[in-house]
Amino acid sequence: MAASGKLASFRLPPLPTLGELIKLYNLQAEKQLSQNFLLDLRLTDKIVRQAGSLRDAYVCEVGPGPGGLTRSVLNAGAADLLVVEKDTRFIPGLKLLSEAAPGKLRIVHGDILTYRMDRGFPLNISKPWEEDPPNLHIIGNLPFNVSTPLIIKWLENIANRTGPFVYGRTRLTLTFQKEVVERLTASTGSKQRSRLSIMSQYLCTVRSCFTIPGQAFVPKPKVDVGVVHFTPLVQPQIQQPFKLVEKLVRNIFQFRRKHCHKGIEKLFPEVCRVELTQEMMQKADVDPTLRPTELTMSQFRALADAYAHLCTHEPSLLGYEFREELREKRLAGRKNTPMKTFMDM
Ligand code: SAM
Repeated sequence: MAASGKLASFRLPPLPTLGELIKLYNLQAEKQLSQNFLLDLRLTDKIVRQAGSLRDAYVCEVGPGPGGLTRSVLNAGAADLLVVEKDTRFIPGLKLLSEAAPGKLRIVHGDILTYRMDRGFPLNISKPWEEDPPNLHIIGNLPFNVSTPLIIKWLENIANRTGPFVYGRTRLTLTFQKEVVERLTASTGSKQRSRLSIMSQYLCTVRSCFTIPGQAFVPKPKVDVGVVHFTPLVQPQIQQPFKLVEKLVRNIFQFRRKHCHKGIEKLFPEVCRVELTQEMMQKADVDPTLRPTELTMSQFRALADAYAHLCTHEPSLLGYEFREELREKRLAGRKNTPMKTFMDM
């Protein structure tokens, strides 16, 4: 859909307020689904502004619910807004909105965790990865139990240029609970530095935009919420397969208070653990007594390169999981322990 400059100055006609819509369609938030609505349109406008200009843009909004953010995206001049909503109760209200913005709003009743976004938009909006991002944005205020698995899935999609990233470096503007925002954006040495910091920052520029106090939501969640903007990097800071990086980072942070060699050791089977850990640390030129939170991105890169090098020489290393070896040993131990008989008791 090509949008002209004239269409870009679109404003929605007068509509029932979100509060009226909630009453009209009986859309009370489901606590079990962690639904917390934003009914203040100045706030939803502010979230939408973090995405940059949406003039003539293609947008996917995840979890539109009663449609506050949806209204702001349309008023910002989006040409084509695709909304993916799991809860059927919201569909009639969204249809009302779609009638008020003819040809601009497409409604998908589905689950964003399985929705094929690579088929959601015309391929001719794509931009080569090395160029500026395409005029396609993902925006959403999702429940916390969905936004974290979703960003992990999308980070893998970024690494593999699949899903929403078949169109190029699609930008994301999403909400997370404050504590997750701190982890996503934590720098070296920070207490919040974690797996999520490395996985997101090696692939994206991650910007914490602003905090929304809990009381701005209906009903009020127990925690404050942050808005985060992600722009995929042209060149990831670590140039190894996502699964390898994910495994390395997971192993290192499993002992977050210990020296980093402790987690690195667990990448290798017990028989060769000591030699291979030493070889990897030397090759990466990383001090084994640094704590996981003290490692810089270039040290993670050097460790990933050194681990990849070892895996090239011994491919079975990549599939090795320390916890599985431990479990097998325990099982074998149990089998070898003579069963007590009545005579022994
Ligand atoms: N965006 C609205 C707002 O800001 O008021 C609603 C926010 S509410 C926190 C989250 C919304 O996401 C709900 O409408 C919920 O039904 C929807 N949702 C939850 N899980 C989803 C999923 N897996 N796929 C699509 N929508 C989902």
